[in-house]
Amino acid sequence: MTEYRAWFECISGCGVTYPLDRIVYRCETCGGLLEVNHDLEALKKRSSAAWIRMFEERQFSTRYPYGSGVWSKKEIVNPLVADENVVSMFEGNTNLFWAERFGKEIGVPNLWIKQCGNSHTGSFKDLGMTVLVSQVKQMIADGQPIRAVACASTGDTSAALAAYCAAAGIPAIVFLPKDKVSHAQLIQPIANGAMTLALETDFDGCMKIVQEVTRRKDIYLANSMNSLRIEGQKTISFEIVQQDDWQVPDWVIIPGGNLGNVSALGRGFENMRDLGLISKMPRIVCAQSARANPLYESYLKGFEEFTPMTAGPTVASAIRIGNPVSVNKAIRILKAFNGIVEQATEDELSNAAAQADRCGLFNCPHTGVALSALLKLVERGTIGKEDHVVVISTANGLKFPEFKIKYHESKLEDVTPRFANLPISLEPNLDKVLKTLDERLGKN
Ligand SMILES: *Cc1c(COP(=O)(O)O)cnc(C)c1O
Ligand SMILES: [Zn+2]
Repeated sequence: MTEYRAWFECISGCGVTYPLDRIVYRCETCGGLLEVNHDLEALKKRSSAAWIRMFEERQFSTRYPYGSGVWSKKEIVNPLVADENVVSMFEGNTNLFWAERFGKEIGVPNLWIKQCGNSHTGSFKDLGMTVLVSQVKQMIADGQPIRAVACASTGDTSAALAAYCAAAGIPAIVFLPKDKVSHAQLIQPIANGAMTLALETDFDGCMKIVQEVTRRKDIYLANSMNSLRIEGQKTISFEIVQQDDWQVPDWVIIPGGNLGNVSALGRGFENMRDLGLISKMPRIVCAQSARANPLYESYLKGFEEFTPMTAGPTVASAIRIGNPVSVNKAIRILKAFNGIVEQATEDELSNAAAQADRCGLFNCPHTGVALSALLKLVERGTIGKEDHVVVISTANGLKFPEFKIKYHESKLEDVTPRFANLPISLEPNLDKVLKTLDERLGKN
């Protein structure tokens, strides 16, 4: 048995707690969201130097499951799952890309992109799903009668759930808004054998249904309202710091939809501060699509009020969410981290993604939203030339081929592509080819 303890606790301050193997997603007393809390006193018995040494030794090791970026932090992620019940695909440890050329071009040379999309199912959702599915596997091993795990999704959550459940041999059910996810995202749960239900509604409509379905406790809810996922996702912060020799950036910019990930990002930094691993905190920027921007509207009013909206169509489909589940957690984090909320139009996010692609990246539209926020804050002088900036890239651009193709063909609505690069059609004639090369490259 481990010496470390963790439990669910109501965030509204009513003091209610539940064990992690209880099937509960909200406080049964006040209806508040839950978060996972850890026995910090026990964790603090180990010195910060000893934690750092251990995290360094585990990074990329082959010892299952500690070579995983998430499970290398097992003690502060979920210490209660037995190693043999961990369902890991060695997620995490994604590249922290030095965007040197792009950074110089826009005037912030110390710019880094955390490539969370270079992962098993192509998005950061793997980080949280490994924790949730492992907990379910543990509960099933302990004799709990769970028949399946279900989620509503804008695409990436269902891909991650389906893959981890398939690896573990646990049935998965995914609810998707019909015709509102990319083909690549749709084919992932199908290929992994999940029961895939396409509903004639939007994400918020799917979310309502899955919450009803999972009232029956034999179907376990995998949405980010389930705070086990946050515990995995918070390792993004640990990795950003560890990959830069335990230095903390000045800024972290992250796209936000349901607002679980921005909450996770903040918790990761808070945990590291509590363990004595860092002494400084970054400022956090949450970036939203202008078509799904309820947090941005609330930020403009000093977070005094929050009004859910009906999210409009955006190429940033994974953040097309008008009624974010984790809004209260996100607002707490943004206040604690001197945070900023920005928004990006279709034109701004598409061009920001494409501009950075020119410097070697291959950005998904959501990363484009974050990059557009970066451009605006640099232009405004809020982010300075000397500042150390990390942008969270949430998914792999390869999951969004329609977005990429339509951008370069000038077929995206409300977008004027400034970086379109179309293939050149030519006869197979050497002279014509050479002439074209000379025109494009310039003669010596
Ligand atoms: C889920 C997702 C987001 C948004 O994360 P939230 O926790 O819902 O705010 C952003 N980008 C991509 C690619 C995603 O899959
Ligand atoms: Zn409560």
